[in-house]
Amino acid sequence: MKPAFFTILFALACCAAPTAARAADAGEIPPPKDEPRVVDPGPPPADAIVLFDGSDLSQWKSQKDGGPARWEVKDGVATVNGTGSIATRQEFGDCQLHVEWASPEKVTGNGQGRGNSGIYLQGRYELQVLDSYDNKTYYHGQAGSIYKQYAPLVNVSREPGAWQSYDVIYHAPRFSTEGKLTKPADVTVLQNGVLVQDHVEIKGLTGPSGAPKYQAHPLKQPLSLQDHGNPVRFRNIWIREL
Ligand code: MG
Repeated sequence: MKPAFFTILFALACCAAPTAARAADAGEIPPPKDEPRVVDPGPPPADAIVLFDGSDLSQWKSQKDGGPARWEVKDGVATVNGTGSIATRQEFGDCQLHVEWASPEKVTGNGQGRGNSGIYLQGRYELQVLDSYDNKTYYHGQAGSIYKQYAPLVNVSREPGAWQSYDVIYHAPRFSTEGKLTKPADVTVLQNGVLVQDHVEIKGLTGPSGAPKYQAHPLKQPLSLQDHGNPVRFRNIWIREL
């Protein structure tokens, strides 16, 4: 073939690629099936399941006996009152979770005994709630920690009595049909809008002692809130299934 033919071929190839790239850059509309859903961001986002909007705890049950949740609800706030931990009636797997909480304004106790509660993802993996404002304890047990596994990256705790927020992105662990762990859970947490857990791999159940281990469980499980005997308050709890 003559060199001129190759020249033309080369020129065509050079033109074709940038043309395709230009089309993509120009933002050609892809098929409708790929279009992101329109969701009113709220808050809460329109596709969120509201677990507590301040009116009642009808979405919750007593973790111990499955009866109604008996925490005090007043002025749009649910307060831990010694009646035991509570769990959602609905079960969840991968999710985005928003929770607002406040430790007691009147400070009593210290360390783990001061404003202790907790958010148990799938009823098993505790994101610690604690009054960690000028309150020393072991670092992987303070507010924003994955209990006894990961200390928060920073301590962004507000003063006792002030409202704080957790925004959580959680992926549930996966187990084989034989109950063997195939993928650990992972979690990202923002406290008061600041990153405190950066996509960490949960090592297993968050108990008080011993090495964390996984115990197989169904993909979806209730979310629970801990009654640790301190009158911690909660409001505006919502969740989005992922
Ligand atoms: Mg706790």
